[in-house]
Amino acid sequence: MAYKYIDNYREQGARKKLVEELRKKGIEDEDVLKAIGKVPRHFFFDETFWNQAYRDIAFPIGEGQTISQPYTVAYQTQLLHIHKGDKVLEIGTGSGYQACVLVELGAKVYTIERQEKLYERTKQVLPHMGYKPKFFLGDGSRGIAKHAPYDKIIVTAGAPTVPEELLKQLNIGGILVIPVGDQDLQKMITVLKTGENDYERITLDTFRFVPLVGDKAW
Ligand code: SAM
Repeated sequence: MAYKYIDNYREQGARKKLVEELRKKGIEDEDVLKAIGKVPRHFFFDETFWNQAYRDIAFPIGEGQTISQPYTVAYQTQLLHIHKGDKVLEIGTGSGYQACVLVELGAKVYTIERQEKLYERTKQVLPHMGYKPKFFLGDGSRGIAKHAPYDKIIVTAGAPTVPEELLKQLNIGGILVIPVGDQDLQKMITVLKTGENDYERITLDTFRFVPLVGDKAW
């Protein structure tokens, strides 16, 4: 499998072009762009599909799930305002690509996936790529209380509402980024925790995510 993790000039060039495309589409945070520029997205694809890896599109990863579109990853990451050392919970590990972008930004990443096959695969391959977030298997719609509080929480699947549990697991000053809507389209929501029971909520652009499935979800 070692051949798979070769980052050659062609892929590096394609990645640079992707970063420029994201910049043109409105991603302004230079640290986020730098992180996207570092993570070899083709590592998440079968070699047959490497020519798709640096297009700004979501792509099937098996089990009916997708690796998110780079623009969406950059958009959500930008909203998290990651500082080095932030403790971040990601709900919906999927391919692990988003987790790697967060690791590149210096976050301590806890990531949870409900589908066992994806969890097993991602937990196995990410360390070979040099990324070592902490992996969990289970329903992330309830967060992971055992390791709370978190500085930031990112949900990478579409939820019907903002789960109360996730808000409880945020530090004061912490940020939750979550797409909320129906099973087809969602609005990106950011919630800033300003006090023990105080929150500032902002509703942003429309996206299309796979559904968040679980106890506090669909
Ligand atoms: N972040 C991923 C990446 O970078 O590839 C993309 C995630 S994909 C769009 C959404 C993922 O959320 C799927 O892998 C799905 O199985 C997972 N998911 C859905 N509901 C979940 C839940 N309640 N807890 C944990 N994971 C969940």
